[in-house]
Amino acid sequence: APGLHFIATPIGAARDITLRALDMLATADVLVAEDTRSLRHLMEIHGVALDHRPLISYHDQNGDQARPKVMHHLGEGRSVVYASEAGTPLVADPGYQLGRAAIDAGVPVHTAPGPSAALAALTVSGLPSDRFLFAGFPPRASKAKQDWFRTMDNVAATMIFYESPKRVKDTLADLAAAYGADRQVVICRELTKRFEEALRGSVAELQAQLEDREIKGEIVILVDRAGKREAAPEDIETALRKLLPHMSVKD
Ligand code: SAM
Repeated sequence: APGLHFIATPIGAARDITLRALDMLATADVLVAEDTRSLRHLMEIHGVALDHRPLISYHDQNGDQARPKVMHHLGEGRSVVYASEAGTPLVADPGYQLGRAAIDAGVPVHTAPGPSAALAALTVSGLPSDRFLFAGFPPRASKAKQDWFRTMDNVAATMIFYESPKRVKDTLADLAAAYGADRQVVICRELTKRFEEALRGSVAELQAQLEDREIKGEIVILVDRAGKREAAPEDIETALRKLLPHMSVKD
């Protein structure tokens, strides 16, 4: 179908791509990729031939130059597929401005949804999933990172963000400064890959766990919302007992 089709690609396991995304890759008039090499590789794995179709590179650095080319194909009524290097385009990845330009030009925008590290991490984290805030990548400098955390703390939601493995330890220190060392955190590493793991605990516990360890690979960090978890029934009973002597019935 004519229009712009955003497709999600694997975040680790090559078979994590939908049949519909593969259909789109097989039939689109024009292919656009953040990383043309990884898209070619993915197509090879799944036996999808490029043939003589154009494959255009479109990433953060060349987006302004590449967008008119893509818009030209869309204007001619062609079907265009866009894939970022891994996961869902637009999620801490290029695609927003392209989607916006297509919408402004009256071109239909579609997606073959699929993997995203943020949702994969939330799924395995064990943190409340009813409400969450995806925050992308934090600023690098410590002070800016702490401020960034503080501005989000009045949102009653599980916070999800991406971080470089090199900065995980510093980020835990900034989390301790901003939220206190008791806050529950989950570090998800290498999701869907061979060395996948989830480290769960308070900021202080994770700092201790990582003290003698170098952390590598791709990382998502999740932070529990502020405030106490639901009080255990005993706590409620104890609290009521304490209140009882202070209660009186007045007429
Ligand atoms: N668009 C992608 C998505 O939907 O997840 C995210 C792209 S962003 C440039 C890349 C970051 O996502 C990595 O630095 C890491 O924080 C996170 N990430 C991607 N794949 C991951 C994986 N398999 N395990 C953990 N984190 C991952």
